[in-house]
Amino acid sequence: MNYNIAVIPGDGIGPEIVTEAKKVLDKIGSTYGHTFHYTEVLMGGCSIDATGVPLTEEALATAKASDSVLLGAVGGNVGQSNWYQLPPNKRPEAGLLQIRKGLNLFANIRPAVLFDELKGACPLKEEITDGGFDFVVMRELTGGLYFGDRKTYEENGVTTAMDTLTYNENEIRRIAKWGFDIARKRNKKVCSVDKANVLDSSRLWRKVVKEVAADYPDVELSDMLVDNCAMQLVKDPKQFDVILTENMFGDILSDEASMVTGSIGMLASASLGDTKLGLYEPSHGSAPDIAGQNKANPIATILSAAMMLRYSFDLEKEADAIEEAVKAVLKEGYRTIDIMSEGKKKVGTIEMGDLICSHIVK
Ligand code: NAD
Repeated sequence: MNYNIAVIPGDGIGPEIVTEAKKVLDKIGSTYGHTFHYTEVLMGGCSIDATGVPLTEEALATAKASDSVLLGAVGGNVGQSNWYQLPPNKRPEAGLLQIRKGLNLFANIRPAVLFDELKGACPLKEEITDGGFDFVVMRELTGGLYFGDRKTYEENGVTTAMDTLTYNENEIRRIAKWGFDIARKRNKKVCSVDKANVLDSSRLWRKVVKEVAADYPDVELSDMLVDNCAMQLVKDPKQFDVILTENMFGDILSDEASMVTGSIGMLASASLGDTKLGLYEPSHGSAPDIAGQNKANPIATILSAAMMLRYSFDLEKEADAIEEAVKAVLKEGYRTIDIMSEGKKKVGTIEMGDLICSHIVK
């Protein structure tokens, strides 16, 4: 098959890590008989330098016309770069918000995978993490408290602030469907997280998720209150497969989930909308402190590319092949600087990409 991928290298380490992800995709292509066509798109600081804005209409149109989008990272050194003299809506990171909005992406997926080989980086006790864990946090991205009406006002001389949390059934239904679809590709378990003992929006969330579950009899659904979920993530993370939740709960839980996995250089992510077109990117930033030094860990971007194969292109075997190759390379003891530990073999960005390619098999 042929696939058109819009590639946004971005700033800092972005171009380096995206180059390695493309290398791995090309190895998948030659091994499994696919062709990936890449169209480079400017976004972030490099776009500001070239065009004056972080994302042009043409760049967004190219991304929209593609089958999927692979992003490195955008942004520079906040204290030093001239980009941060610009108003907030003209800075590099504004491009991120614009592309997410422009592509109508409402679901964010962050996998939390503890590779057995890296369990030393996990702050949890060994008896909890033995054997590793592997779940995803699926967060609603465009509704809830962060997008509701808000105001700060004076009432009888007292300053008061108000935020509103609104969800309608359609917003809940569309993300719930993604949650169940993704669970079907994994271990077929959805844990829907809410605060239904207090919030009306959570009671609607629970009702609609249950309705959607009826169309997925092969997927097991459970409900959990968000406070309990925060505890369970550190007490027994192995119990989870897909955690499905609203915007603010997902914001907090996905950060907690990434913390228990250890290194930022390993964390992939995907944002999805109504179609198969998704935006795939590492969870970390552009790491200007190590840019251009062949030090960045490309694994988060390579695992994001694997997610693209799985969720946008339905290439399950190919996605598995990338994930297995990453595990094999870690097992052989190769490490970039961010995940380095005593007795392991230190490699750079390019070598890590080459090693992962060399372990891709059919
Ligand atoms: P960062 O994630 O870029 O870096 C934090 C620390 O982690 C740094 O020490 C960095 O060297 C290290 N690090 C990050 N990714 C790594 C990798 N792949 N391999 C090895 N080490 C890695 O966060 P920051 O320093 O707060 O932000 C730097 C810039 O990135 C800022 O301009 C910020 O706005 C931007 N940013 C962009 C995105 C994005 O593009 N999605 C996300 C977060 C931050």
